[in-house]
Amino acid sequence: MEKILVIGAGFSKNVNYPLEKEVIPLIEKKLDSAAKIAEKFKEDLIHLWNDFFPHLDFWKLPIEEILSRVELEMKYIYARDRKRYFELTDLYEMILALFWITISAKPTKESLETLYNFLKSVGFPLVVISFNQDMVVERVCEENKISWSYIDNLRLVKQKPYLYFIKTRYNFQSYQLEHPEIKLLKLHGSFNWFYCWRCLKMRFFSIQDAGHFPSVTQWPFGGRILLCAEPKCLTKAAVGQANLMPLIIAPSALKQYDLPTIYDQFLMSRENLRNAEEIIFCGYSMREEDSLSVNLFYKLSTLNKKVKNIIVIDPNKQVYRRIANVIQFRPQYINSLHDFNNHD
Ligand SMILES: [Zn+2]
Repeated sequence: MEKILVIGAGFSKNVNYPLEKEVIPLIEKKLDSAAKIAEKFKEDLIHLWNDFFPHLDFWKLPIEEILSRVELEMKYIYARDRKRYFELTDLYEMILALFWITISAKPTKESLETLYNFLKSVGFPLVVISFNQDMVVERVCEENKISWSYIDNLRLVKQKPYLYFIKTRYNFQSYQLEHPEIKLLKLHGSFNWFYCWRCLKMRFFSIQDAGHFPSVTQWPFGGRILLCAEPKCLTKAAVGQANLMPLIIAPSALKQYDLPTIYDQFLMSRENLRNAEEIIFCGYSMREEDSLSVNLFYKLSTLNKKVKNIIVIDPNKQVYRRIANVIQFRPQYINSLHDFNNHD
């Protein structure tokens, strides 16, 4: 039976990662409790933010709105003022770097086991459509020796990542994996997916190599800069280095869709949704401003005639109603993973 699991931030809440609305308060707390060195970082960040968005209090906005606003401004300003554009990319990377520290800690063994037991009771093989940029699913798989794959340009890419360090050490091979137990589609990118702003090529890194930000050289991120090793990007060093950026997409109406890899994630998601017999939503809130994602599920009942069972797992009954409304199907409601594991 073809099964799909759709996950959002509520899934990662099980390993204590924050929900979207909790990210900014958590960042503020972390910066305040860090050593003096964080003060300068905070100062620079707010200075840049106020320069572009003088009437918006950074600390009062949710992370997705912050990222969306900066991305949108980048689009507006790109052709008009290159200097301001690069200031914005600095700001964007500083925010991403702070976001990263809230979801980079290795989860406890027990919490990963809870998720493993859940995945096991859903059953393999399984297609996971994730709206999270963290690496919780990958960690559960590695911890429990479950084979898994990303999908790139409609090919499966085995979990063995590209090694893609500065010039001398890289490896372009891709690895086909015919029947992984988990196929992982990440519609909003991932902190271990990097792309080159010049040639738009995309690279997967190992989960241990996630979270590098070329413009953020201050505390606590300074260090490794990843360069694109495409021959045409290497030889154009004089016009600016082709630094690799993490591929992160804010859940807003306007997104960074220049990258074929992201289109592929949506295309493959739709194909899988068309054929699934069981679909389980877990901790995914299906926010209405995320129009492309909502459209993926809109009138699912007309896209897929084979589906036998749809389940929504979420402590919030409103989320259940929103999903039911969009897919135009009446799913089964389950309150928690614990209840799911005990249902039949
Ligand atoms: Zn490149």
